[in-house]
Amino acid sequence: MAVPKRRTSHAKQGHRRSHHAVKPLQSQYCQNCSGVVQPHRICLNCGYFQGRIVVAEQEETGK
Ligand SMILES: [Zn+2]
Repeated sequence: MAVPKRRTSHAKQGHRRSHHAVKPLQSQYCQNCSGVVQPHRICLNCGYFQGRIVVAEQEETGK
């Protein structure tokens, strides 16, 4: 079984983890209802994407 020859230094560990940060989500505004949406995703409020209805609105089922 392969075993590390040296333990990873704190510096090396830090360099590796320098890419682990999470960026904040991008946000745009829906062309139909002006709600906040993520890019390249349908509007969760009205179901529009690229100027047309992609997902029809459904009635609330008491959830
Ligand atoms: Zn919308």
